Amino acid sequence: MPPSLTADLRNLGLQTGDTVLVRCAAKAIKVESGSPATALFDGILETIGPSGTVVALAFTPDFYFWQKSQAAQFPFHARAKSETGAFTRIVLDQPGAVRSKHPTNSFVALGPNAEAIVRGHDENATAFYPIKNLIEAGGKLLLVGCVESSPGFSTVHRVQEDLGLADRTLLSRKRICAVQDGNHIRWFARRDVSGCSAGFGKFYSDYEAAGILRRGTVGGAVSIFADAAAAYAVERPILAQDPTAAFCDDPHCTSCGLRTYSPARMARFFLSVPLKGARRIARRVG
Ligand SMILES: [Zn+2]
Repeated sequence: MPPSLTADLRNLGLQTGDTVLVRCAAKAIKVESGSPATALFDGILETIGPSGTVVALAFTPDFYFWQKSQAAQFPFHARAKSETGAFTRIVLDQPGAVRSKHPTNSFVALGPNAEAIVRGHDENATAFYPIKNLIEAGGKLLLVGCVESSPGFSTVHRVQEDLGLADRTLLSRKRICAVQDGNHIRWFARRDVSGCSAGFGKFYSDYEAAGILRRGTVGGAVSIFADAAAAYAVERPILAQDPTAAFCDDPHCTSCGLRTYSPARMARFFLSVPLKGARRIARRVG
C-alpha cells in the first residue's frame, strides 16, 4: 500500500477512532499494483485504527412490482451480492463485518461501533435509518473519486426521511424485492423510496459556506469529507424550506418527477416523456 493514502486521508480530516461512512469510485485511485478498492480499504483501516469503524452501503436490487419473476431471482439474504461496488464487497467479506437486514438498502459496518450503526435497520425501518445511528455515534462522511459522478452525502436521504418526503412519491409501494426466509420467499414493498441523488452536489456550496467541508485527494482521486451531524444540520433547513432543493436537473428523471410534493416537477416530467410512455407510467403507478 502506498504510504501516501493514509497521509491523504489524514489531510482530509480522517482520524484515529473515527466511525466513517465511505462512498467511493475506487477506480479513480492510482495504485502501482493491486486493487484500488483494497488499497483504499487498507488505508482507511490503518488511519482509523482498531478503535475506528468503517461503514459502507451494501445495497441490493429492487424492481417494479410487475417484475416479480425477475425479482424472485435476486432475493435478499445476509450474503446477497451487493451492487454498490468493490469497496463494499471487501467490507462484506471481512470476518466481523455486520450487515443490516433492510432488504434493499442494507448497510455494512466493521469495527467497535458496527452493531450500533446497523441496529434497528430492518424492513420496518426507512432505507437510510443507519444515518441516524451514524450521527449519534459522531460519525464522518467520506467520498473518494465519486464527488461529481455520484455526488453528495447520504445524510440528505436521511433528512428527506425525517421531513416525511421519502414516501411521498407515486413509486411508494411500487418497488419490491424478494426476501429469502429459510426456504421461503416473501415480498417486501418499499414504502419510502429514496430519491435520485444526482442533485445532491448542489449542497457542496452550502457546506463550504458553513465551513464544514474538507476537500482533497486520496491517491489522486478527488475526495471530500465532513462530519455527518454538521452536514445534516446544513441540509435540513434547506430542504425544510424547499423540498425540491435536492432534485436533479434531468426532466426525464422518474425519481424526481414522481414526487407528489412537487406538482410542478411532476407536470414537467409528464410533459417531457412521449404521451404513450406517460400513459403507461400513469397506468402502472397511478
Ligand atoms: Zn433525479
